[in-house]
Amino acid sequence: MTRYGKIDDLNFFEDSNKDNEMDNIKDYIEEHIMGRDRETFFKRYNAAHRRCPECGSTHNTQTLVAKVLDLENKDSYRDTNNAICVDCGWNGIVHDLTNE
Ligand SMILES: [Zn+2]
Repeated sequence: MTRYGKIDDLNFFEDSNKDNEMDNIKDYIEEHIMGRDRETFFKRYNAAHRRCPECGSTHNTQTLVAKVLDLENKDSYRDTNNAICVDCGWNGIVHDLTNE
């Protein structure tokens, strides 16, 4: 009975090693493949949505709630965090900020 117990324990450790390998692969893909994609997207998005549509100022305060990005459908992304222009008081959402 004790031997079966030990065999079960070994199987348990083998299984958990496999899980760790899968987790490592998943982490690698998320960081090096999806992560790069996300980073590039947000660089472009933030550059396109940084100026007040009323006065063109880049001085604004924003709430920082994380929004879900669907990598298969990036154009649908809308940052609905609240944005307030420090210079003219415009009040809207980050998505309505412009790049001009
Ligand atoms: Zn403004």
